[in-house]
Formats: sequence, structure tokens, C-alpha cells
Amino acid sequence: MTTPADCQADVVICGGGVAGLWLLARLRQQGYRALLIENQALGAGQTRYAQGIIHGGTKYALTGAVSGSSEAIAAMPPLWRACLAGRGEIDLRAVRLMSDHQYLWSTASITSRMAGFFASKMMRSRIAPLDAADYPAVFRHRNFRGQVYRLEEPVLDTAALVHALALPHESAIWRGRVVQADGVRLTLDDGGQQITFAARQVVLTAGKGNAALLQLFGRDTPQMQTRPLKMVMVRGELPQGVYAHCLGASSNPRITISTHYDAQGRTVWYLGGDLAEVGVKRSDAEQRAAARQELADLLPWIDFSACEFATLDIERAEPRMPDGRRPDDVYVDGRDGVITAWPTKLAFAPRLAARIADMLKQENIMPSVAMAGFPAWPFPGYALLPWQEEERWS
Ligand SMILES: Cc1cc2nc3c(=O)[nH]c(=O)nc-3n(C[C@H](O)[C@H](O)[C@H](O)COP(=O)(O)OP(=O)(O)OC[C@H]3O[C@@H](n4cnc5c(N)ncnc54)[C@H](O)[C@@H]3O)c2cc1C
Repeated sequence: MTTPADCQADVVICGGGVAGLWLLARLRQQGYRALLIENQALGAGQTRYAQGIIHGGTKYALTGAVSGSSEAIAAMPPLWRACLAGRGEIDLRAVRLMSDHQYLWSTASITSRMAGFFASKMMRSRIAPLDAADYPAVFRHRNFRGQVYRLEEPVLDTAALVHALALPHESAIWRGRVVQADGVRLTLDDGGQQITFAARQVVLTAGKGNAALLQLFGRDTPQMQTRPLKMVMVRGELPQGVYAHCLGASSNPRITISTHYDAQGRTVWYLGGDLAEVGVKRSDAEQRAAARQELADLLPWIDFSACEFATLDIERAEPRMPDGRRPDDVYVDGRDGVITAWPTKLAFAPRLAARIADMLKQENIMPSVAMAGFPAWPFPGYALLPWQEEERWS
């Protein structure tokens, strides 16, 4: 006979990135007795490495990678904008909007090759080529020969997002490691102190950590894939407020630049796109050199010589796809009391939470009538953004 658990929950969520936190907030709004467990700090996984772009899919459409889920992604910017304005499913008025929109720019060679595509009706409804007079400052230079487009897709401060999602629910967010899983009965350990709890449903939103958790639950499916990236951070006297993708020849932007601030308020450009994907084959020093070269090729009128460059290795965690290609929608798999989920994009966190909430209802898991509080337990705290960790610059 098993001993009674110390605590009961309707739903236990393992993993406090954007996916788990959004889900926790939505389930608690709906009256569920939901608890979230985080083994490091909130946002410590992929979430704090994200560029904060709320994709609407235009970037993919432009490069011909339109898919069945393009309507789903197109719905994300308006959904997030409603939340940012305090009119949406979660109040995100406290979250700093880094930029209301982004830019996409093409170099002279790509512009001529893609002229027909830009002229298509479908694309005209999604993006607008700008007149040179309206170019952001970074492209207003006599040597710039390409074209700049404006994308109506916002960019968020991901640290502020994690805070805004977690703050109202801190009493339901616990620090610790699941050390035993027996069906939906879990034992959590925090520095030797243990607590057991029984849940009606467990949800795994631990990003890359889902694989180890699935093992603990004795499961070998669903399977995960990881896509490594070698991102680059640049710090120094840089143009402000740059959120822009450079169109490349592949279905991925050649480079994506987002602007952030380090702990002293200095400007940081964070570089992703093809540079980060191809860069995994390079050493840190080679990647820093490649980033300098790419910036010199694309923005030759800016002097980066006094800037500091640093690299960041991070893996994207996703469901395993045929041929390792990237998934283009959220992924949810539910069986025997355990749901495994990957949002695949930060922008998809609301869509993922809605899917899981539907799944709970289908399983007839409704909110408990009694909503007693949880026992007191240590809170995991919040992760810093990588560019705010000074040791990463050395
Ligand atoms: C470099 C980069 C840039 C990106 N840019 C964007 C972007 O601009 N826009 C966009 O939409 N998407 C972007 N993404 C994708 C986006 O970041 C991810 O899809 C999203 O953050 C995944 O959120 P998550 O909550 O599923 O996972 P994660 O953020 O990885 O969170 C998982 C959490 O689970 C915790 N955890 C792990 N194991 C356990 C365990 N055993 N028990 C308890 N907790 C555990 C981790 O500490 C972590 O806090 C980017 C990704 C990367 C890597």
C-alpha cells in the first residue's frame, strides 16, 4: 500500500519556461489546482535565449517556406498585442515592448531575384516595402543598395515576460528535481528536502529536459530532436533599436539582429539566423570572426572594430521530425496521465496552452472544487538574460 501523498494537485507542470508558465497562468485562471516545478530558475532554458520575436510567419512566407500552419502563426501577433494592451487572455501590460515591428532587408542581389515575389498580391498584403525616407537609421546610408520592408510583428523583453507570467502565481511555483515518478505520483527533491504529491495529470514542458523526464516516467516516446545554434552577442557603440532580418538565399534569414541591453545598460546586438545555424561547425573564435565578417559585408558603413563579440551555444528542443526538419507548429502528446509538449516557438506558447487545456477537458479533468493553497516550498527565482551575465563576455 502506498502512503498518502503530502499534497494533491489537478495538474503538475514540469518546466518553467514560457510554455509552462503560460499554461500555469491559464489553468489557474480556469480554477485548476495547478503547480509548476522548475529545477533551475524560471526562464533558464531556451526562453531566455530567444530573440523575443512574436512571429507572424511573414519571414517564412517570403522565403517560400509557407506551410499548413501559416494561419496559426499569423494569429499570434494580434493575440500577443491584445495581452500587451491588457485586453487579452493574460495581462502582459508590465512587459516591455522592445519594438512594435521589425524590418526585413534584402541586399541588392537578392532584391532583383525576388522582385516578382515581392510584387505578388499575397506578399503585398503582409509586408510593405518602405520608401527610402522611412528607412530606420541603420539603413539610411548612401551605400545601402537593397530594399527594406516592415513586418508587423512585435518584439518583447523575454525577462519581463517571464516575470509577468510568474508573478501572480509564485505560490504555485516550486523549485526542485523530480526524483521519482510512479504514474502520476511524484517525489520532488530540493537540496535533500523531499515532498510527494499526487496529480491527476502531469504536463512536461521542460524543453530539452523533457527527454530525461520521459525516461524517469519509463517512456521512450515521444522522441525529441535538438537543433544546435551558435548565437553571437555584440556589445559597444551600436545603432539603437535594430530588429531586422536579412533575407538570404535559403529559407532562413542570413542574419537576424535584435537589440538588448547588458547589466550596465550598454547596447547589445544579438545575432541569429543562418549565422547561428552554420556557426555550430565553427569554434568560438571562428564564429566571432565570421560574425565580424558578415556584419562588415552587410553593414559596411558601421564601424564594429571597437565592439566586443561573444558566442552563446544553445539547443532548440523539439519533437523529432522526419529528416530532422524543423516543426512548424506546436506539439502535444498525451497518454496515461502524462502530456509531453514543445511549443517550438515562444510565440506559440498561448496556442500550446489552449491545446493542453482542451486535452484536459477531453480527458474529463475539470478544476477541483476545493482550491486550498499549496504548502510552502522554495521558489526557484528568475534566470538572468545571457548578455547580462558578465562572465559570458570574457
Ligand atoms: C537562440 C534562440 C532564439 C529564439 N528566438 C525565438 C524568437 O525570437 N521567437 C520565438 O517565437 N521563438 C524563439 N525561439 C524558440 C523559443 O525560445 C522556444 O520555443 C521556447 O522558449 C521554448 O519554451 P519552453 O518553455 O518549451 O522551454 P524552455 O524555455 O527550454 O524551458 C524549459 C524549462 O524547464 C526546465 N527544466 C528542464 N528540466 C527540468 C526538470 N527535470 N524538472 C523541472 N524543470 C526542468 C528548464 O530549466 C527550463 O526553465 C528561440 C530559441 C532559441 C534557442
